[in-house]
Amino acid sequence: MRRSCIRVLKKKGEPIRRELLEMELLDNSARIFSEGDFLYLPLTEKPPEGTLDRIPGDFEITEHDFEEHKGQLKLGDLLDDIPHFEIVGDIAVIGNDVQEPGKVAEAIMKVKSNVRTVLASLGPVEGEFRVRRFRTIAGEERTTTIHREYGCRYYIDLERAYFTPRLATERSRILAQVKDGQTVADMFAGVGPYSIMIAKKSPDIRVIAIDKNPDAVKILRRNIELNSVTNVEAIEGDASIEAERFASVADHVIMNLPHNADEFLDAAIKLCAPGAIIHYYDITPEDDLFDSSLKLIENAASRAGRKTELKGTRVVRSYAPHQFNVCIEVKIV
Ligand code: SAM
Repeated sequence: MRRSCIRVLKKKGEPIRRELLEMELLDNSARIFSEGDFLYLPLTEKPPEGTLDRIPGDFEITEHDFEEHKGQLKLGDLLDDIPHFEIVGDIAVIGNDVQEPGKVAEAIMKVKSNVRTVLASLGPVEGEFRVRRFRTIAGEERTTTIHREYGCRYYIDLERAYFTPRLATERSRILAQVKDGQTVADMFAGVGPYSIMIAKKSPDIRVIAIDKNPDAVKILRRNIELNSVTNVEAIEGDASIEAERFASVADHVIMNLPHNADEFLDAAIKLCAPGAIIHYYDITPEDDLFDSSLKLIENAASRAGRKTELKGTRVVRSYAPHQFNVCIEVKIV
């Protein structure tokens, strides 16, 4: 199987292998091999620009064919239909509509040996704080865990504050755009996965992390400590009110509140220093992925007497049939 991989001198390979493992970028289903003086480390994905900056030493990102690890138990060996599930730390989350949840949970725990708990979500994320409720299907009865992502560790309580591992690549794309000396306003920071990852990139980056959910901010503060970062200001409050205190300071404004980020566009524009980028997330239909949302941003900028320049648009993931989670990036001049 063809994989993106890292090619590194054998004698320099081990620390890089460990870093990749820590960053959850090493593809454990493929067999590491050596050729001449070089070691080839298979990756789960081609790392977005900037993601590997923290890894010291010389290496090259390339592509190669890898052998699959033989004899490894797969879910397909145990289940006819593999339902969608996600893994947060040592918790696996399945949908409430999964048939034979006990059998599915047992299979997941057998194949993913680090999973200790299987939860079924009782519904979609809802309410102002975007949280869900769960029932335990197997393992320890808890909704708390430690999740690792790109070298950061997050304490998570799935029932008290929003978190999804599915935005990991998206977060690293934003990370790549933030430069030393810049200020980032994370208007809907949750437990801090954008804020902390960005803060960890350099102590010269200032991060203002706001969330209205008191539980999310408590956990965010815990995560700031857990990751030993000192450049995140955790603020409990309404982003539209808190933005008043930080007028024109931000070089990047992250608006990860799909569905109603538009209500906060005036506040976001206020946060923007000249030339700042707004990273605006939305859920949009396939026949109008970006246009209507872009118009909302342009209108808000124009209300504040500012001009806009479209920097980029992308589909982040599919959200529901014919609906997509998108990101629109606009420079506010
Ligand atoms: N950015 C985080 C992440 O990627 O995990 C959290 C995103 S979650 C979709 C949206 C967050 O916005 C929730 O944590 C919610 O509590 C917060 N929120 C909702 N309304 C808010 C408001 N008016 N001001 C600040 N935060 C708000």
